Amino acid sequence: MFDKVLIANRGEIALRIQRACKELGISTVAVHSTADADAMHVRLADESVCIGPPSPTESYLNIPRLLAACEITGADAVHPGYGFLSENARFAEILEEHKITFIGPTSEHIRLMGDKITAKDTVKKLGIPVVPGSDGGVANEAEALACAKEMGFPVLVKAASGGGGRGMKLAETEADLAEAMANAKSEAMSSFGDDAIYIEKYLTKPRHIEFQVFGDGRGNAVHLGERDCSLQRRHQKILEEAPSPALNDEARNRVGEVVAKAMRDLNYRGAGTIEFLYEDGEFFFIEMNTRLQVEHPVTEAITGIDLVLEQIRVAAGAQLSFQQEDITFSGHAIECRINAENAKTFRPSPGLITYWHPPGGLSVRVDSGVYQGYRIPPYYDSLIGKLIVHGKTRNECMMRLRRSLSEFVIDGIDTTIPLFSELISQPDIVNGLYDIHWLEKYLAKSES
Ligand code: ADP
Repeated sequence: MFDKVLIANRGEIALRIQRACKELGISTVAVHSTADADAMHVRLADESVCIGPPSPTESYLNIPRLLAACEITGADAVHPGYGFLSENARFAEILEEHKITFIGPTSEHIRLMGDKITAKDTVKKLGIPVVPGSDGGVANEAEALACAKEMGFPVLVKAASGGGGRGMKLAETEADLAEAMANAKSEAMSSFGDDAIYIEKYLTKPRHIEFQVFGDGRGNAVHLGERDCSLQRRHQKILEEAPSPALNDEARNRVGEVVAKAMRDLNYRGAGTIEFLYEDGEFFFIEMNTRLQVEHPVTEAITGIDLVLEQIRVAAGAQLSFQQEDITFSGHAIECRINAENAKTFRPSPGLITYWHPPGGLSVRVDSGVYQGYRIPPYYDSLIGKLIVHGKTRNECMMRLRRSLSEFVIDGIDTTIPLFSELISQPDIVNGLYDIHWLEKYLAKSES
């Protein structure tokens, strides 16, 4: 097992990883920018290193500075969390070259799934159904048009390197195609430095259902069920639940077995997520994330398995500590992403938290990196916490969530809590009847 793990991240996920390290008796190293000197993840770590100014490129994304922090502190492994360098194959490779373990998959697997065109092609060969679309990338408008006409409009133009909903543009008809391609390309170039694009059939009423997978790189791989992340704004998840209100045991086991087998065939190591769109009883792969997800706690709640602890164990060379038959699903869990944003305009709301009172009680979990008196810096993602609630049934979970949201008090800044309080009384949400477009339509209606 490792002696010391450096956590190359900030906020709630840095704390989440520290907790797992502490339980395993591993020392922790926090890194931080000058803007984060007072952050909770720095205060609670055994050691901390300032790695640069606020800009992520000069701190949390800066590989030479992170390497220097490893050398100074003698860390023998790095956990990247999510975002930042978590899916950067070169970072994983450089660490391995320096005999520092990257807590995650091999750099080959990160690279394979990091390019969405290669990823789709790879999983298709492994027997996973994919969204209908262009065979590989599209080089020009004529190629794109031919493909779009064959599938039928609307189509989605997507960036091969896309992420966070960027580099994705809708073409409702033939007349929109050229502009959608140009916009997707320029957004992809400026965000990812790669303007390769491909085309997919635009599904009009799918749910986003993703499977948590886990492998040990020693031939064992399992699935830990699904998460339904259909409640989205601008292709970004807002609320996640497990299990999905739309799936039955038969569908779960059938698709779960397909993805677990695919991971065994790849000899995948670590945690991963296979994302699908689900429409009319059919699954269509969209992408694989080769890292821990923001919404991993809902899976932890219904399986009782600590996914971060398992990531660390597997990275240290251990076999998976559970087999498929050991994994059982119990009850229902929902996660709300608490962002420092105005609940109506979604404008970021950094600043001083003057009062902080998180909810508590049975089966209520709050993962957060903030505290009363903390000033949220304006430089980073607006996620300041996650409220995860578990119940024996979906109904019990909703009751507990309603009660927890009413207890949660954060003063000094705007948060998305009022939005969740409103959403969970909507009949469609109460009954689990929503697709990926539901929230946008709801917000448009409440604006007018
Ligand atoms: P990113 O990596 O940028 O998050 P994804 O491919 O994971 O992109 O897609 C993010 C979200 O965009 C999905 O959850 C879904 O809401 C929407 N989306 C992606 N592909 C399609 C599609 N073919 N049809 C309809 N919506 C889609």
